[in-house]
Amino acid sequence: MTKLLGVIGDPIAHSLSPLIHNGWLRDMGFNATYEAMHVPAGEFHNALKTLEKRDCLGVNVTLPHKAAALAEASEASESAEKIAAANTLIHLGDGSWRADNTDAPGFIEALGGLNPHEDRVLLLGAGGSARAIVHALSVYGINLVILNRTASRARDLAEQLGTSDTQSDNIIQYKDYIETATIVINTTSMGHHGAVLDLPDGSDRLFFDISYGKISEPQLNHAADRGWRVKDGLTMLVAQAAFSFEIWFGELPDMATGLKRCRAALEAAS
Ligand code: NDP
Repeated sequence: MTKLLGVIGDPIAHSLSPLIHNGWLRDMGFNATYEAMHVPAGEFHNALKTLEKRDCLGVNVTLPHKAAALAEASEASESAEKIAAANTLIHLGDGSWRADNTDAPGFIEALGGLNPHEDRVLLLGAGGSARAIVHALSVYGINLVILNRTASRARDLAEQLGTSDTQSDNIIQYKDYIETATIVINTTSMGHHGAVLDLPDGSDRLFFDISYGKISEPQLNHAADRGWRVKDGLTMLVAQAAFSFEIWFGELPDMATGLKRCRAALEAAS
């Protein structure tokens, strides 16, 4: 019997997750299929009840359901509890689900190296993805500054998930902090509105924008022009997907193949 997997969200039509997961399912010979499932806010509980009647092994969860996914689960990993959001559910049977959050390890995998003694991270944004990233960084005791348009959200995030050294401020103050940062991570949705942050000279420091495709392109092009090493969010997307896949099947799929398929799909769409 073919098992069902999928990603639940709204909007969801743009999601690359079916491409990533169905590729791995084919490559590794698992009898399962992965679908994009459009579920509006408030309908998450009903969607899970429907999936329980089908042979559903698990789901990924994206906006606006990550908090609801945690609330619906009967068990949760420590990181999902701390972040207060889940992006992965595995169906344990009999209508019970276990929640996990693979955004945090996905981010660390994508970052590809961190020096806790030397790196100073400037994090832009304090939304859902920033929560997972602050949790991931706090494990390393990294020197961290969180800046956000709504400064109170940055302060709350620093207090809830940061270390005692984590600072916060309004994003309009970014020029006061950026010179001493070795890594800048942009988790804001500014790129969705076409906004680009004016950057100083990067001197080969890292600018990591967790958005990807056309959304991150103007900001990353500007950063590269100013001498920053740049990274988009596609590696993080693929890494979090790989860790979800491992939760469902007990095997880690090949991230490089997933990334190649995503880059090809984005190129074909541009
Ligand atoms: P949220 O809606 O939870 O947070 C959005 C953040 O952006 C908030 O901090 C918000 O500030 C800020 N923001 C929005 N508009 C502006 C603006 N015009 N100027 C300054 N700040 C702004 O979104 P997520 O954290 O879930 O996602 C953010 C981005 O990251 C999206 O582009 C998403 O696609 C991408 N993403 C990528 C992932 C990956 O795997 N690569 C995973 C998850 C997300 P305020 O609090 O003031 O509203």
